[in-house]
Amino acid sequence: MGATIIDGKKIAQDIKDELKVKVATLKEEGKEATLAVVLVGDNPASQVYVRNKKKACEYVGITSLSYELPEDTSEEELLKLIDELNSRRDVDGILVQMPLPAHIDDKKVINAILPEKDVDGFHPVNVGSLVIGEDGFVSCTPAGVIQLIKRGGPGYDISGKECVIVGRSNIVGKPMSLLMLRENATVTVAHSRTKNLAEVCKRADVLIAAVGKAGVITADHVKDGAVVIDVGINRNSEGKLCGDCLFDEISQKALAITPVPGGVGPMTIAMLMNNCYEAALNRIGE
Ligand code: NDP
Repeated sequence: MGATIIDGKKIAQDIKDELKVKVATLKEEGKEATLAVVLVGDNPASQVYVRNKKKACEYVGITSLSYELPEDTSEEELLKLIDELNSRRDVDGILVQMPLPAHIDDKKVINAILPEKDVDGFHPVNVGSLVIGEDGFVSCTPAGVIQLIKRGGPGYDISGKECVIVGRSNIVGKPMSLLMLRENATVTVAHSRTKNLAEVCKRADVLIAAVGKAGVITADHVKDGAVVIDVGINRNSEGKLCGDCLFDEISQKALAITPVPGGVGPMTIAMLMNNCYEAALNRIGE
């Protein structure tokens, strides 16, 4: 029997629809949620991401403020804008689209955003909160993966499962491992120095690939009946979008698998919308 294909588009849509209702309820009470979206330069991929984020805001009912700055914007100018947005009471979330031009230090920029407005969950205070199990914003892609697993299959219970995450970046692999730990999985993090990757991966009840290399995970890396989440976004030799996992052969063995596109990708924006809503609730509750 083939694997269940986890439909990230549908789950992301459900989450946005749920948020739409909640944001409308806020509005009935005369309250609003607002996201400031900052883009520096004219990287075409970043322009697409920013456009999609603004479209999602519009759909959900979150007000988006757009700041599109030229490529030669100085670090000082960007930090000044962030300062202004930090102090504006009507701005709940601040999103600075990465990557930034090379002359701007992205760490300085991330650290300048107030943790309570850091809806991307990249600020060290939010990362630290995740480590010690306190409330805070969680990086959107890993948060989306948890929702995919929970909503994607008939009541999949992560607790006690063996989870292997391939990749240890600050935006995906590391926060992913902490979230799976929070869900009571037994977690292994593999990376480019891991020996016998296939053997390590084969332990997994839940295998999460966040590498960025097409075909790095094959059926030989997957245990029968595993849930496989493919975070990777790559282009194959024909220029088509694909993940890190060999989808066709793995879906013969897995219990469930996410496709690329249409799996993890749509979830990232849905979780960003969720973080904006949460930021607004926190502010309103102050
Ligand atoms: P990084 O390049 O920052 O990290 C890749 C990780 O993979 C590193 O930890 C690296 O190990 C590990 N790695 C590289 N090669 C191998 C290998 N052969 N075997 C095992 N591990 C390996 O990438 P990101 O975490 O930022 O992104 C990963 C992928 O996810 C990319 O394709 C990216 O486009 C995609 N992505 C998708 C998102 C979405 O919304 N769907 C959002 C964010 C990312 P080491 O640390 O040792 O170098």
